[in-house]
Amino acid sequence: MIASTTPAPSKFVASLRGLIGRCPNCGQGRLLRNYLKPVEACSACGEAYGHLRADDAPPWMTILIVGHVVIPALLSVEQTYEPPTWVHMAVWPLLSLLMTLVLLPRCKGLVLGLLWSTGAPGSER
Ligand SMILES: [Zn+2]
Repeated sequence: MIASTTPAPSKFVASLRGLIGRCPNCGQGRLLRNYLKPVEACSACGEAYGHLRADDAPPWMTILIVGHVVIPALLSVEQTYEPPTWVHMAVWPLLSLLMTLVLLPRCKGLVLGLLWSTGAPGSER
């Protein structure tokens, strides 16, 4: 499973490396290509990632985070400033979209890093 002779990183380190889009094993190569597609193997250490499937966990994590940021912010702004409806219609969908686009690959990397560190076989091996 681990291609190199160096000790395997902890689950925490592997997950953090995945979170920043790096190889959970070495932290050098990229984990994702084309926004969300896992690389077949790390370009630096050769560790295989193409078989890992994060399934629905990254979208669920993203929805959870975005919802817990945007909805309280929306309610707070409404109660404090009472802006016109068009402001809400312009700001909150755009903020939700931007947060989703930023968070989704990071959540996927986190899940893939955690899956890899736990030795999950993946669904296509
Ligand atoms: Zn690597």
